[in-house]
Amino acid sequence: MPAIHPESAVEEAEKELSQSVWPQLESIYFQNFERVLNAFRSHRVGEEHFFSVTGYGHDDLGRAVTDRVFAEALQAESALVRTSIASGTHAIAIALNGCLRHGDTLMMMTGSPYDTLEEVIGIRGDDPQSLRNRGIRYLETSVIDGQEIRNTLTEQQIDGIRQARIVYFQRSCGYSIRPSLSVRQFSVLCRQVRIINPNAIIFVDNCYGEFTEAQEPTAVGADLIAGSLIKNPGGGIVPAGGYIAGRKDLVDACASVLTCPGVGRHGGYTFDLTRLILQGLFLAPHAVYEALKGMTLAAFLFEREGYASKPLWHELRTDIIQTLQLGDPEKLIGFCRTLQKFSPVNSAITPIPADVPGYADKVVMAGGTFIEGATLELSADGPLRAPFSVFLQGGLCYAHTRSVLKTILETI
Ligand SMILES: *Cc1c(COP(=O)(O)O)cnc(C)c1O
Repeated sequence: MPAIHPESAVEEAEKELSQSVWPQLESIYFQNFERVLNAFRSHRVGEEHFFSVTGYGHDDLGRAVTDRVFAEALQAESALVRTSIASGTHAIAIALNGCLRHGDTLMMMTGSPYDTLEEVIGIRGDDPQSLRNRGIRYLETSVIDGQEIRNTLTEQQIDGIRQARIVYFQRSCGYSIRPSLSVRQFSVLCRQVRIINPNAIIFVDNCYGEFTEAQEPTAVGADLIAGSLIKNPGGGIVPAGGYIAGRKDLVDACASVLTCPGVGRHGGYTFDLTRLILQGLFLAPHAVYEALKGMTLAAFLFEREGYASKPLWHELRTDIIQTLQLGDPEKLIGFCRTLQKFSPVNSAITPIPADVPGYADKVVMAGGTFIEGATLELSADGPLRAPFSVFLQGGLCYAHTRSVLKTILETI
């Protein structure tokens, strides 16, 4: 039980946050919202776009306008937005496959990629369709040194970039201990890569990052970005899907991988989901803002209780993840159980640590979400190993995150 009553602790935190970081978050929200709204207006979205054509799905006006609206909202020349993209991993895999040929080199700049990309690249497993098994060379380096992002490249990095067809950055730290890469930091690195190798395709895994800052990586030099619709850009209501955005020639190549050459982006039934995808995009800047407010509250409250957190409550954010080092397995399990108990869905379920494929330690997970696995909805998880960090993310309504955190404070 903390020194002061949880309700007062939350009120004090809110007083401080509303005078410091929340106005910055609000300003980002307003800028993103206006850009999204203008995208709807400039492409003249109408009710006629909410109906799908069946069969081959040729001439689906809604599908075409959705691609254009997303492109503008994400500050890109072109976009491919589909529910047939199964996940963020699938979107990234399509992007890599669309741009790489046998004999090309893929150069990763931000250390190990997100776990699920390891099999796509061929670092783990031996799938015949992995990039490695199809003749693509993989190089990995990191511009991140502990908690610092370096913006001077080593000789070896410069050499790798010279050989690369794709130079790959991951914006969010995901579940690693490194800091996330802000759009400003990315832009500095991007300019250097461009000078070293003007022909390289600069790709960014944008998962978790959309609308957390006023600019997307595509506005500052990325050639291609990809992400998931059950994270930020789906606004919490899109049931499935992913997007790829960037240079038109590259997005077209990705469309040929998703469907097939000749069909590209011109085919595929959209199952009457276009209205939901567009409405999700419309809501996304607000949902991300609510999530970020909740994450700053979590950081503030737990820092005050003496726990280490990343990012710190007052630091700039470029994704929707908040890490809290709880330092004790019981606290980690307790945190997840309380969050689960105060979820709108599956509140009667008790999370227990379990083995998860791809992880060496048992993992405890909580998230009573309307859409399975949707991490723009409030959710938490953490591996049962020191320092027993909980990864907290999402929160469609600030009031929900606030209520959960207050209850956790009462019991931790
Ligand atoms: C979530 C995530 C992915 C993979 O997305 P899925 O939809 O879970 O397949 C890739 N990279 C990062 C940084 C992510 O956060």
